[in-house]
Amino acid sequence: MDWSLNPYVGCSHACAYCYASFMKRFTGHGEPWGEFVDAKENITKVLARQLRRKKSGRVMLASVTDAWQPIEKSRGLTRACLELLASSDLSVSALTKSDLVVRDADILKAFGGLLRERRLTLGFSLTTASDELASIIEPGASPPSARLDALEHLASEGVETWVFMAPVLPALTDSPRDLLSLAKEARRRGAQEVRLDPLNFYPAAVKQVSKVIARHRPEAGETWRSVLKRPDEWRKRVSAVARSLEET
Ligand code: SF4
Repeated sequence: MDWSLNPYVGCSHACAYCYASFMKRFTGHGEPWGEFVDAKENITKVLARQLRRKKSGRVMLASVTDAWQPIEKSRGLTRACLELLASSDLSVSALTKSDLVVRDADILKAFGGLLRERRLTLGFSLTTASDELASIIEPGASPPSARLDALEHLASEGVETWVFMAPVLPALTDSPRDLLSLAKEARRRGAQEVRLDPLNFYPAAVKQVSKVIARHRPEAGETWRSVLKRPDEWRKRVSAVARSLEET
């Protein structure tokens, strides 16, 4: 990836495992990560200026926020950036947990197709097929069922879609049967590729996921703690599932 584009600072999806929570220290906000979002009001001006200089490459949308989180419905910064990108020569890799992305089907379709080397790929991040579990671990994001509906709709419109099953969470979403079933469903709905990635056990994520398990899934606590003692063994088991995904 050559550049990343983040129209917002903060993310109201408030995922328990969020890898971007380190960003809080640069914001001046006192609220917990997940409870504030700032819009980068001047982002289209800055992007337009940069696009005059950058003639090729790939842009990640977004790396430390979700570009289609609820605030985007009223602010429209992501849509405005996509309009600029669609008229440039850059490619875009977008990743979201929001069904709001369907609103922008017209622009998403304007990428790719004509020029193979200039494409847009749209990934949907999914950790579970369960709307109920997702409401606990990703409370602000669209339910998985709505993400799959959005994927199916956009895939049927010709947008290149894929699914990122990540992060796989020990004791919560790591059942091989459930992972393989979700991957199968994603492909059936039109995902051209499905990838999987285990949880990165960095301290902030471990702390937040521990809290979620203690509060909402105490029966999973023993398994979670045993994985924390031997994370490498667990990673090997998840890697085996990832390999079987490639073979299916
Ligand atoms: S969608 Fe991404 S950036 Fe937003 S809270 Fe979830 S993991 Fe963090």
